[in-house]
Amino acid sequence: MIDEIEALDRILSSTAKPEIEEVGLVAAAGRYLLEELRSTVAVPGFDQSAMDGYALRSMDLGSNGGALRISGLSAAGCENPGILQAGEAMRIFTGAPLPEGCDAVVMQENTLDEGGKLVVNQKVKKGECVRRKGDVICRGQLIASSGDRLNPGLLGLIASQGYTSLPVALWPRVAVITTGNELVDPAVGKLKPGQIFNSNSTMLQVALRRLGIQNVDLYHVEDQLQATIEVIRMAMHRCQLVLVVGGVSVGDRDQVKPALEECGANVEFWRVRIKPGKPLLYASFGENGQLFGLPGNPVSALVTFAIFVLPAVQRRLGACDKNLGMRRLTARSLSSITNQSDRPHYVRGVFDGDAGFLASACQTSHNTMGLAQSNALARIAARTCVNCGDLLTVHLLWEY
Ligand code: AMP
Ligand code: MG
Repeated sequence: MIDEIEALDRILSSTAKPEIEEVGLVAAAGRYLLEELRSTVAVPGFDQSAMDGYALRSMDLGSNGGALRISGLSAAGCENPGILQAGEAMRIFTGAPLPEGCDAVVMQENTLDEGGKLVVNQKVKKGECVRRKGDVICRGQLIASSGDRLNPGLLGLIASQGYTSLPVALWPRVAVITTGNELVDPAVGKLKPGQIFNSNSTMLQVALRRLGIQNVDLYHVEDQLQATIEVIRMAMHRCQLVLVVGGVSVGDRDQVKPALEECGANVEFWRVRIKPGKPLLYASFGENGQLFGLPGNPVSALVTFAIFVLPAVQRRLGACDKNLGMRRLTARSLSSITNQSDRPHYVRGVFDGDAGFLASACQTSHNTMGLAQSNALARIAARTCVNCGDLLTVHLLWEY
């Protein structure tokens, strides 16, 4: 049995570097940028108005304003607004270039147009309502780094620099294999005594989809060694990331570990000091293949996915260190929580931004109701008691 930190280290250090494809900006949304980007144009690209109003020379007005002659117009897209002479004001709109000689813009709301004569009843300071060339971004400035998540704001900035495509990671091929004689596909049949519906298959597909992985090869296999070997072999042949669920514990029916030995996979570790999820298995195969054996209990399967599989997939997709894993924050515990076990306990519960974190009443690893009602995990160290009001590290389950 190994520690969770060591387990994660081994997983990340054996995760393949991303393979690159170039895609359009919209298709890159939510993915990770795989190169450093520099600006190609200054922002703003020229001195311009920040408001709809009048361009003027601040020195032409006194401390209580004054009157100016209205001459000409500069609208967004105007190529050359010309020159502003002494005593003149030019009608101007947001984003339009400033005429030569102008050093300020007065907002239209603070003026009166008296038939060609502009009356301003206040002082206008030099630089007011003016955006200067390059005051946001200079040409050649670093605007994005490798490993950054491509969110709408960042993609907007990149588009403003004239980029039309970006290098991102090719989607890995992923397989999910469920194991167990008791499982029935909800789309296929009714339950007979002793059977349950296969829910992990749906849950893991959805967890992968949140990372952008749309296509998953799905397999199901009964608890039988030869069949397990065959299905794992097939998945290893077709995919770079294989998730096998169930059949990794110590029961006589648990076939995954013996099957992996037959399939030529390298078992890097089996069993991690963590609760829930102790039976987690991790293996590498081929040039860049990774296989996770997740425990079958739905809560354990999802918790181990979130702690171990999620950062591995993010790394494979090119995420930098700060973008790995669930989002973490500090919150006050709204109840006392005791962990008597010798393993850290990832406790399910509800994080409510203002109030804090309330642990679910029932923490058993088959409690799918408690899992469905939770949005966060709090890590409680081994043999520790957290009192109501204490600060906790909370991991947000659906924010990645
Ligand atoms: P295992 O890890 O195979 O020993 O399974 C542990 C528990 O999880 C058992 O109660 C299984 O019936 C249940 N389980 C295993 N796989 C699934 C699945 N795909 N969907 C729902 N429950 C499962
Ligand atoms: Mg099983």
